[in-house]
Amino acid sequence: MIRIAPEPWAAMVAHARASYPNECCGAMLGSAGDGARNVQQAIALPNAFAGAQAARYELRPEDLLAADKAARDLQMDLLGIYHSHPDCDAYFSATDLANSCPWYSFVVLSIQNGEFHHANSFLPNFDQTEAPKEELIY
Ligand SMILES: [Zn+2]
Repeated sequence: MIRIAPEPWAAMVAHARASYPNECCGAMLGSAGDGARNVQQAIALPNAFAGAQAARYELRPEDLLAADKAARDLQMDLLGIYHSHPDCDAYFSATDLANSCPWYSFVVLSIQNGEFHHANSFLPNFDQTEAPKEELIY
């Protein structure tokens, strides 16, 4: 289960709406315990994909490392990655799965006509062959 506090959730939705019609991406920081991940801070990261960003995002490894360091400085953990799907459902695509990491939660926000529509979170398995949904509370 992943629970996103109101402040980071508002920041994630605002980032996804501001990036529309392109995909946005960012990091989710917080703490894990009692079988739940609690997101307390969201950090917007640049979409580094060189091609059309309406259906694709790419995170630079150095940005992810900086987010991980920021988490440790705040005594938090890097819990996951979020990105948006403009005018598309919040599903986990084959590309998303191929670019995933098994130890992170992946939150996908569906933005339809520029407005937040729905969101899902996925937990890729170790082999990155499937990513079951996990419970998402926001
Ligand atoms: Zn995606």
